[in-house]
Amino acid sequence: MSQSQHTDDRPVLVLNAGSSSLKYQLLVPESGEVRTGGVVERIGERGSDVADPAAALETMTDRLLEEGIDLGKVPLRAVGHRVVHGGPDFSEPVVIDDAVLQRIRQLSALAPLHNPAAVTGIEAAREHYDVPHVAVFDTAYFSSLPAAASTYAVPRELAEKHSIRRYGFHGTSHQFVAQATAELLGHPLVDLRQVILHLGNGCSASAVRGGRPVETSMGLTPLQGLVMGTRSGDVDPGLHAYLAREAGLTLDEIEALLNKRSGVLGLSGVNDFRELVHLVEAGDEDARLAFDVFIHRLKHYVGAYLAILGGADVLVFTAGIGQHSATVRAAVAEGLDELGIAVDPSRNEDDSTQPRVISPDGSRVVVAVVPTNEELAIARQTADLVR
Ligand code: ADP
Repeated sequence: MSQSQHTDDRPVLVLNAGSSSLKYQLLVPESGEVRTGGVVERIGERGSDVADPAAALETMTDRLLEEGIDLGKVPLRAVGHRVVHGGPDFSEPVVIDDAVLQRIRQLSALAPLHNPAAVTGIEAAREHYDVPHVAVFDTAYFSSLPAAASTYAVPRELAEKHSIRRYGFHGTSHQFVAQATAELLGHPLVDLRQVILHLGNGCSASAVRGGRPVETSMGLTPLQGLVMGTRSGDVDPGLHAYLAREAGLTLDEIEALLNKRSGVLGLSGVNDFRELVHLVEAGDEDARLAFDVFIHRLKHYVGAYLAILGGADVLVFTAGIGQHSATVRAAVAEGLDELGIAVDPSRNEDDSTQPRVISPDGSRVVVAVVPTNEELAIARQTADLVR
């Protein structure tokens, strides 16, 4: 290996093209140095001058130029793209060629709300940057879920024909946090049973044994599981037919209702968790119910995953709400002493940005806050693949 390969400090551009935003970060995977980053929002919204992910890329390029970064001249190593759904095909990151792009496009059937934006973003970025492009899939980490966990109890032929299974999402985050938690505790990853709660705009839980996921709360789509900002999470599957018959809603309307107008928003009128907590403190009853439903569902999953794992060594909180809301962490742990779970109030209130333990010394289950860093994880996986 040449000297220059040892000291490669060329950055990777990480792109996360969603239906209404493009998040970007330019960073050096080995050191974690972030050269710049940001988000282009309101893509495709009325009154916005950013029509689609391709236009968002132009906006990003202009913004970077204003910062003095000319992406045409920066010695870029590669571009790493977050892709939500890898379907049954992709169980690890892959260098994007025309065939891969075509397959990601086809997987839009499984993720109509997510993959099309990624495809448009990848197409535009490939035209702009003549470097290797890598797709890192949100589903990849969970592709090794045991069959008992990933299989829905529907007729097998139908499931095979239409690739129906539990895929799980936020995999890049759960994998990163599982590893970072092992480092925090100074324990080998292979020895740990972890329950990980990724609580951001989207929320998901996972049970991880020895670094391998054995359960996760999201399913065929990112709609299943925990209550989220605008998504319902688990509902009775019978709800769809009931709404179609009784409320006269179409399937598209039901999908939009459960993804965009439900969850914390549907119950309280706000989807930002900070606002929700303020409303709860101000005595708003709808907000109180939304908060209680959110916590109740979380406890439901924590209990389930303790049973799946036969007990846990660590319960981990991550992402925006998990990292910053001491109120949520305290509410989840409340009453779980019998299960070995408790938080120390002053450790819990400490709003550090570092990975940290918040349970009392000697607790049977360590409770930890471990910041996720999906951009860094994507940059590293991208660099590993093109090295
Ligand atoms: P994304 O899923 O888009 O990556 P984040 O992980 O940044 O989102 O999480 C966003 C959520 O975190 C929002 O609901 C936001 O209100 C919540 N959040 C951020 N800071 C706090 C805080 N101090 N207290 C409570 N919630 C917070």
